[in-house]
Amino acid sequence: MDVAILGATGSIGRQTFEVVKNLPGVRVVALAAGSDYEGLMEMAKVLKPKLVALYDKEAAKKFDLPGIEVVAGMEGLVQCATSADVVVNSIVGSIGLRPTLAAIKAKKAVAIANKEPLVAAGSLVMVDGADIRPIDSEHSAIWQCLQSGGRGAVKRLLLTASGGAFRTWSKEQIKKATAADALRHPNWTMGPKITVDCATMMNKGLEFMEAHWLFDMPYDKIEIVVHPQSVIHSMVEFNDGATMAQLAAPDMGQAIQYALTFPKRLDRPHKPLDFSKALTFEEPDLEKFPCLRLAMEAAKIGGTMPAMMNSLNEHLVAAYLKDKIGLYDISRLIEQAMGAYNVKPMLALEDVDEAEAWAKEFAIKKEINK
Ligand code: MG
Repeated sequence: MDVAILGATGSIGRQTFEVVKNLPGVRVVALAAGSDYEGLMEMAKVLKPKLVALYDKEAAKKFDLPGIEVVAGMEGLVQCATSADVVVNSIVGSIGLRPTLAAIKAKKAVAIANKEPLVAAGSLVMVDGADIRPIDSEHSAIWQCLQSGGRGAVKRLLLTASGGAFRTWSKEQIKKATAADALRHPNWTMGPKITVDCATMMNKGLEFMEAHWLFDMPYDKIEIVVHPQSVIHSMVEFNDGATMAQLAAPDMGQAIQYALTFPKRLDRPHKPLDFSKALTFEEPDLEKFPCLRLAMEAAKIGGTMPAMMNSLNEHLVAAYLKDKIGLYDISRLIEQAMGAYNVKPMLALEDVDEAEAWAKEFAIKKEINK
């Protein structure tokens, strides 16, 4: 099986690298990254792909290994995305949308960790015949649970949430939280953007939309349960009263490997779970985490609203990571923008571009653009 890894030098990309190194029958033929050409060269020395892409055209000029074709820009990402049987898309942000659509069009399987394309343009991604395999741990869990019963027999999907870095903090404390505070996730080691999204619980709002599109499930059948230990990665309740849960140590390797070997389960060294510790559950606090409420509202409004909201969130998180705004400025500005934005139907890629341009303009006006 030929595999391409997009977003190879990020957190999921590196974990994919560890998985594929030990996986029989897998040949990595293409690697793509944003600007980290040095990291990409290290990886390419081991995996020996035929093709690499760097989104940053200057960085692409610096990549130099014999026998490997180097491409750049969005066209480069698209070329990588269409060069293998299975494409692991672990790009961060809505920049992964065009490569995802290109891979689907070329009839490639897409193992997707990149949630923003589904959020921004789920209706464009989930076309008939699209072979999309979730890597996001919650969605991989639901996918695994669904192997025991058809989608028609589903009563509800239960998306679990760790609650992020500020679950036990008061609103007053959260107001003063710095980027360094938000980056201390209790259970998972991930990239900075998603870790901040976990701290605001925007991540769970994005995953709410991701689940809706991946599993063709109406929003009133998707519920969010806070589960601080991150042992149950999500659950599916069926119409006959049975609830299936998927449990694993918080390590993305299982979800990545399953997406590559589906429908088979292959051996993989892993830590056994410790059942002497209690598993607990709470309701999400929408008052303390307004980003979750706003994302759920945007989901139900639909059209171009999720694309605009998601794009603005990317600008705001970038500003928060530079300590230019506070954590609650993210939800305050998203709420303001959602009130001012005229939503349109989501019919084509240009509608995403327009929604994202509006969000960027809003961010510039508020002087928080990256
Ligand atoms: Mg997740």
